[in-house]
Amino acid sequence: MKIAVLPGDGIGPEIVAEAVKVLERIAADGFDFTFEFAPVGGAAYAQTGHPLPDSTLRLARDADAVLFGAVGDWKYDQLERALRPEQAILGLRKNLGLFANLRPAILYPELAGASSLKPEVVSGLDILIVRELTGDIYFGQPRGRRRSPDGAFAGEQEAFDTMRYTRPEIERIAHVAFKAARGRGKRLTSVDKANVLETFQFWKDVVTEVHAEYPDVELDHMYVDNAAMQLVRAPKRFDVVVTGNMFGDILSDEAAMLTGSIGMLPSASLNEKGQGLYEPSHGSAPDIAGQGIANPLATILSAAMMLRHSLGLPEQAQRIEAAVQTALAQGLRTADIHAPGTEKVGTARMGDAVVAALG
Ligand code: NAD
Repeated sequence: MKIAVLPGDGIGPEIVAEAVKVLERIAADGFDFTFEFAPVGGAAYAQTGHPLPDSTLRLARDADAVLFGAVGDWKYDQLERALRPEQAILGLRKNLGLFANLRPAILYPELAGASSLKPEVVSGLDILIVRELTGDIYFGQPRGRRRSPDGAFAGEQEAFDTMRYTRPEIERIAHVAFKAARGRGKRLTSVDKANVLETFQFWKDVVTEVHAEYPDVELDHMYVDNAAMQLVRAPKRFDVVVTGNMFGDILSDEAAMLTGSIGMLPSASLNEKGQGLYEPSHGSAPDIAGQGIANPLATILSAAMMLRHSLGLPEQAQRIEAAVQTALAQGLRTADIHAPGTEKVGTARMGDAVVAALG
């Protein structure tokens, strides 16, 4: 199983090193993982003049899965947009056809105090947001600026975007979500705005049709405004949530913050072949890069998702998740999740603790 490892910028190399350590420990139990490293983002720009060199893209395409750190650094903010580090992630999504973004929001009981919500509201939270990643108003054409052709403000400057989804795009993300729900609590909430938007009435109709293939999964529909409210009122009512690109962008960040700690949240972006890119939900944190204090757990948990979703090793994924919980139960905390009564540790020590907990 070939894993492309793209550490990137800022804390990327530090946190990815810990995830690789954990995967090497799993490999030692008889799994054949090959790691191939390549530069991406600002690191690639510095070496080659482009944030996503052809050789990196080829490696990612040929691999069974991609383990990605983070990209971005303030020193590249003056570059023209096409050369900025963040373009690498968009290029990878587009070239690999990564249309399904999976973001679990799990609150470990040990971290219940870190949430901005009351512990009884979030304790035991375990939800999965499935966001469509390549369609919707973010990519719909036409878009642009012009003089308004009609209406009360005809002749004035205006800007416009186009919200659209085709049937196959909705069907394939619905299948991903139903399958994910089938492997968990068997409940799926499809989030839309069918009361106002034609695109999302169609979304709702198609998701309802796909449901016929998953009679064992309970489906409900919710308007996005209500979903935003329910996520803070009673987040544990959700199991798996599926939604479009824009609503998913917003709701997945909202769900992420319920857990109170950006350093804990993994993510996966999958294509139709089951290939995936696995990365922490946070960025490159240039403010703490090189200090050995970043939390590596989101990246380690992303590696666990990789074993589950691309490499067909769900038991090994569970082993890693349990090992993370053990490290937390031992009272070890990186600075971002540190609280009185726990032991503050650095990036490498946290990685070592997860490896040790794997036995
Ligand atoms: P960020 O997520 O990098 O950092 C936000 C805050 O969270 C910072 O204070 C940082 O120190 C902290 N933080 C993040 N990850 C942490 C970890 N693992 N452990 C401890 N603390 C952590 O967001 P930002 O500061 O807005 O962006 C920094 C750079 O990252 C920018 O260049 C941005 O474009 C880029 N970015 C990249 C990605 C990606 O690679 N997918 C995603 C978001 C932002």
